[in-house]
Order: sequence, then structure tokens, then C-alpha cells
Amino acid sequence: MTLTPALFPALISAIAETITEQADAVTELDQAIGDGDHVFNLQRGIQALQAAAPEISGLDWPAAWQKIGMLLMSSVGGASGSLYATLFINLAKNSKDSTLSVVEFARLFDLAVTAVKQRGKADAGEKTMLDVLIPVAVKLQQDAAAGLTLAEIYADVRASAEAGVAATRDMLATKGRASFLGERSIGHIDAGAKTAQLMIAAVSSVLAQ
Ligand code: ADP
Ligand code: MG
Ligand code: MG
Repeated sequence: MTLTPALFPALISAIAETITEQADAVTELDQAIGDGDHVFNLQRGIQALQAAAPEISGLDWPAAWQKIGMLLMSSVGGASGSLYATLFINLAKNSKDSTLSVVEFARLFDLAVTAVKQRGKADAGEKTMLDVLIPVAVKLQQDAAAGLTLAEIYADVRASAEAGVAATRDMLATKGRASFLGERSIGHIDAGAKTAQLMIAAVSSVLAQ
């Protein structure tokens, strides 16, 4: 399969669908240790991306990622908006060609996750979306380097995203709003980790088709 931005409309639809389906469950998580607006924030971004999907599908990857990042920056409020914008703008910055192998994407994704860490001054173990993004970036690079099939890579990536979400439950939040709760943040799954996992699963299932 060739990975081109022509896939973007299908990808963003799958993301919209899973976030809508899980909206109440995620909002419940976010109300426990955040301010309850995470799904609303994401949905604003998703709507902006769906409106621009026809245009994005005709771009090459660097231009598509830049456009996605800029739209997220301007449409999504909250911490998650600037962090996801950073991810996509960094993908745009480091990608040179319009064609994309899995090995090359794995390398770009790892760099982009590093940019998100820097932007949020956060790392693994702080009970955030990074507890999904970091293990996914690591697994993607390992699997791509090992030459696994796309189906194997997608299955592995989904599993590491799920493990990452589950691991946030017992973590003490040290970044973002949940950190204001201190010890009381322990025992709750992080909403931003959960939506990162849902979106990664949605993307994997479209790409696995
Ligand atoms: P806000 O907290 O500003 O209302 P959102 O509700 O949209 O923004 O997003 C909250 C999510 O963002 C958290 O659940 C967490 O996963 C993630 N997050 C918050 N701060 C950071 C950070 N410094 N680094 C990485 N992720 C973060
Ligand atoms: Mg919030
Ligand atoms: Mg907020």
C-alpha cells in the first residue's frame, strides 16, 4: 500500500467516529482529573480537519502535515491543541519527500514525539498523552527496522498504545491540570492518553484495510 494524503479523508472520518463514540467515556475520565473539555477541544480540531480534508488529500505529505498542524493550532484550545499542532508541524519540518516508507515514517514520528516532549516539558511516566505516543514511537521504529509486515506493525502499535493508556491509571500526574490534584490523580486513566490511543487504533484499522 502507498501511504499518501489521499488517505486523509478516510483517516479523519475514522478518528471522528471513534471520538464521537467514546465521547462520554472520555469526558468522564477528564472530569475526574481534568477540566472536562478535552473531547470538545479535540472535536473542534476534527471538524476543522474534516472541512479541509478534500484540500489536504491533494497535497504532498510535507504540505499536508503543515496544513494539519496550522489548523489544529488555530482551532483547538487547551494543552492538547498546541501539543498535537507541534507533532504535525514537526512532521512537516523534517520530511523531505512526498513518498513515505514505513521506516521513514517511523523515524519522522519519533522526531515529532520528541518535539511534543520538549513543547510540553514532559516525558514518559507523567500521566499524559506521551505515555501512549512514546511507546508507540519506540515500537514503530523497532518493528519497521525489523522489517515486519504492515499488519504486524499495526497490531503491535495498537497493543502498545493500549498498554500505555492502562499504565496511566497508577501514575501520579506531574504535568497538565491533573497535576494540581497531586496524589488524588492516582487511580484514574488520563483522558489525553485515552484519546491518543483511540486515534492511533482508528488510523491503524484504516491503514490495515
Ligand atoms: P487542557 O488541560 O488545557 O484543558 P485538554 O483537556 O484538551 O487541555 O488536554 C488535556 C490532556 O493534554 C491531558 O489529559 C494530557 O494527556 C495532555 N497534556 C497536558 N499537559 C501536557 C504536557 N505538558 N505534555 C504532554 N501532554 C500533556
Ligand atoms: Mg481539559
Ligand atoms: Mg481546558
